[in-house]
Amino acid sequence: MTASISDALLDWYDRSARALPWRLPPGEPLPNDPAWPYRVWLSEVMLQQTTVAAVKPYFETFTRRWPTVEALAAAGEDEVMAAWAGLGYYSRARNLVKCAREVAARGGFPDTEEELRALPGLGAYTAAAIAAIAFGRRAVVVDANVERVAARLFAIAEPLPGARKAIRQRAEAITPDARAGDFAQAMMDLGSQVCTTKAPRCLLCPLSAQCEGRAQGIAESLPVKPPKKAKPERRGTAFWIERVNGAGAEVWLVTRPGRGMLGGMRALPDDGWSARADGSGEAPVTGVAEELGAVRHTFTHAHLTLSVRRIEGEPGGEGEWWPVERLDEAGLPTLYVKAARLALARED
Ligand code: SF4
Repeated sequence: MTASISDALLDWYDRSARALPWRLPPGEPLPNDPAWPYRVWLSEVMLQQTTVAAVKPYFETFTRRWPTVEALAAAGEDEVMAAWAGLGYYSRARNLVKCAREVAARGGFPDTEEELRALPGLGAYTAAAIAAIAFGRRAVVVDANVERVAARLFAIAEPLPGARKAIRQRAEAITPDARAGDFAQAMMDLGSQVCTTKAPRCLLCPLSAQCEGRAQGIAESLPVKPPKKAKPERRGTAFWIERVNGAGAEVWLVTRPGRGMLGGMRALPDDGWSARADGSGEAPVTGVAEELGAVRHTFTHAHLTLSVRRIEGEPGGEGEWWPVERLDEAGLPTLYVKAARLALARED
């Protein structure tokens, strides 16, 4: 049965694999090119908690600008952070630079799951995915898609996270020795295209004959998830401080501390909301203030309402004057793009 599952899935993948910029066509031999593991690694880091559609343009930009791991290792962290802006989960970008430097210093990517796991920013899933996809190693690659397919295929009704052990054992049992990378990607494709969270398309599924969840009529309810915790509401304030000189209008930007939320990113100065649980705080700048409104943003752990206030006065502390006309090149994370848009709309 386990061999027939992997055979059926690989046959389906040969016919239906998604063409993605970081992927080889099914069955194609692995290229003997050091840029290959680099592309797999870069795509896997970008895809963590991020959709394929969102990743594609960033992947194109990064590989055009930094075609090898050595090129990325030689880039400034601020350049990489700015290029990453908008993709979210910014600790990934910081680890990306660290990892690229470590890999370049050791002369290339290691090819075992264990050694990959020791690199900055690589968890169990990413290390397994790179070992399988970039190097053809047999590795058990379990992301949310694979988790869903395995829970349904084997009717694992125990709630998450407790079910993870059984899911992993089952995924292990159906992973073939050959074509490990194709198998991992086939499971991911099946989960995202066919065995979808809502309304799985069992009629089109290559595994429908073997699927216990479908046979028992419980597939859509699996995997059983623990109840969601309500996200806390937080509040904060960002400050729009502008001056006009011979070069045109400029706005005061700061670089956020390296550690913590949105660490190392350029941003509007704020009242330190991210360091507090309740969002209360004092402005780090003084002067006449005008309320411009507020923007909403949702992080993985909280909702934030960020008030935007225009300050007429001189900024304090470290920062830089940035031309308003070139604000799109500053690499602001999405939260501050929203705040800047609000301030500019109010000016209009
Ligand atoms: Fe998922 Fe349905 Fe296929 Fe089972 S038969 S793996 S539930 S799509």
